[in-house]
Amino acid sequence: MDRTTYLVIGAGVSGLAFANFIESDDYIILEQDQEIGGYCKTVQQDGFTWDYSGHFFHFRHKELEQYLLERMPDDEIKIVEKNTKIRYKDKLIDFPFQKNIHQLPQDEFIECLYDLYFLKEQEASNFKEMVYSRFGTGIAEKFLVPYNEKLYACDLSELDVNAMGRFFPYADLDDIIQNFRQADNRSYNSTFTYPSGGAISYVNALASEVREDGISRKEALISIDLKRKVATTSKREIAFEYLISSVPFPTLMKMTQVPHNPADFRSNKVLIFNLGFDKKGWSGVHWVYFPEREYSFYRVGLYDNIFDTDRMSLYVELGYPSDADVHTEEMLTQVLTDLKKAGIVEDHKLLSYHSIVLDPAYVHITQDSDQLVAEARQFLATRGVYSVGRYGGWTYCAIEDNILETRQLAQTFNKLHHL
Ligand SMILES: Cc1cc2nc3c(=O)[nH]c(=O)nc-3n(C[C@H](O)[C@H](O)[C@H](O)COP(=O)(O)OP(=O)(O)OC[C@H]3O[C@@H](n4cnc5c(N)ncnc54)[C@H](O)[C@@H]3O)c2cc1C
Repeated sequence: MDRTTYLVIGAGVSGLAFANFIESDDYIILEQDQEIGGYCKTVQQDGFTWDYSGHFFHFRHKELEQYLLERMPDDEIKIVEKNTKIRYKDKLIDFPFQKNIHQLPQDEFIECLYDLYFLKEQEASNFKEMVYSRFGTGIAEKFLVPYNEKLYACDLSELDVNAMGRFFPYADLDDIIQNFRQADNRSYNSTFTYPSGGAISYVNALASEVREDGISRKEALISIDLKRKVATTSKREIAFEYLISSVPFPTLMKMTQVPHNPADFRSNKVLIFNLGFDKKGWSGVHWVYFPEREYSFYRVGLYDNIFDTDRMSLYVELGYPSDADVHTEEMLTQVLTDLKKAGIVEDHKLLSYHSIVLDPAYVHITQDSDQLVAEARQFLATRGVYSVGRYGGWTYCAIEDNILETRQLAQTFNKLHHL
C-alpha cells in the first residue's frame, strides 16, 4: 500500500494552495480530472479566452497577491474599476439596486423610497424576511427577491439571514439617500484584477510551486476508512496521516460513511454559456444583472470590456435547482433570443461557444447546514480529515478565502512538526 503524510484531494485553488504552504514534500494531490484548476479553469477557443463563468479577483491580503504575481511573470494583469448595471424594464441602472432607486421611473422611485422610509424593522429569521425588513417591499420585490430567486433557484425563505455573508451589499437609509447626490457604489469587489491568460494563470502560479510528480491526475478518491486512515482511490489504496479534502462536503460525508441526511445539504447548479461574436457590442459595462423572469439568465458578463478586445465575448449564467434537468442546446437558443431582446446581441454573428454546468455552484446556506457542517468538520479533524475550500466548507466564499484557509491549515501543520 502507498503511504503519505498529507493526502490532498483536488487540484483546485484550495488543494494547490495547501501544497504551496506545507513545508513537507511528503504529499500526494489526487485530481479526478485530467486538468488542474477545479472551477478556476480557463478555456481558450477560436481566439476567445473564457473561464468557467467570470472569475475575477480581489485581494484583501496584498502579500498573497504579490506571491501569485511573482509566479506569473508572462501575464499582463488588468486592474479594472468595476462597472456593473441592472437591466430593469428596458433601462440600465447602476448596481446595487438598493442604492440607485433614484434612477428608476419616478413612480417606482417613490414607491421604493416610501416603503424604505416607513419600514417596520423586524427580527428576520431567513434571507427573504431580511430583505423585506431591511429594504422594504418595493426594493425587495423589484430586485432583491426576483434576482436572488433566479440565482439560487429556491424559495429564499429557505436560506439563512446571512446566506451571502460579506458578499451582500448592505445599505441603510442614509447610504441610500446620500447616493442620490454623490454616487458611491463601492462593494467588496469595486476594483478587481484579471490576468490576460484568464483565471487559470493564478492556478498555474500556485501549481508552479508543487513538486513535479506531486499531482496524480485522473485519479479519484472513492472512499475513506477513518479507522485505518486509508483512502481508496480509482487506482489504489493510500494510507495517510492527514487528508485534506476540497470535494463537496456532502460527497465527503458519503465517502467517510459519517451518518448524515443528504437533504440537509442543498445547493443550486449554474449553467454557463461562453459566447464569442464577430464584432464589438456594448462598451464600458463589465456585467449586467437581470432580475426579470422574462430573461432566462440572471447575469451576463462582457469579457471584451475587461480585456479591451474588439469582438464581443460573453458569459451568461442561468440558475437551476440541483435536481433539474438541463437542456443545453434548447437553452442556447433561448439565451440568444433573450440576448437580442435585451439589446446585447444585434446583428452579431455567433462564432464560437462553450458551455459548462457547475454543480454545486451556490450553496443554500441555512442555520442547520452551518451547524451540521461545523460539527462534522470538527469530528473529521479528530480523525485527521480536513474538509476545506468553498465546497468542502459548504459555504459562500472567494478564491482568496480558499488560499488563506489552506495556508493557515498548512502553517498549523508546519508548526506542529517544528515542536
Ligand atoms: C458561478 C461562480 C462564479 C464564481 N466567481 C468567482 C469570482 O469571480 N471570484 C472568486 O474569487 N471566486 C469565484 N467563485 C468561487 C470559486 O470558484 C471558488 O471559491 C474556488 O474555485 C474553489 O476552489 P476549490 O479548490 O476549493 O474547489 P474546486 O475548484 O471545486 O476544486 C476541487 C477539485 O477537486 C476535484 N475533485 C472533486 N472530487 C474529487 C474526487 N473524488 N477525487 C479527486 N478529485 C476530486 C475537482 O475535480 C476539482 O478540481 C465563483 C464560483 C461560482 C460557482
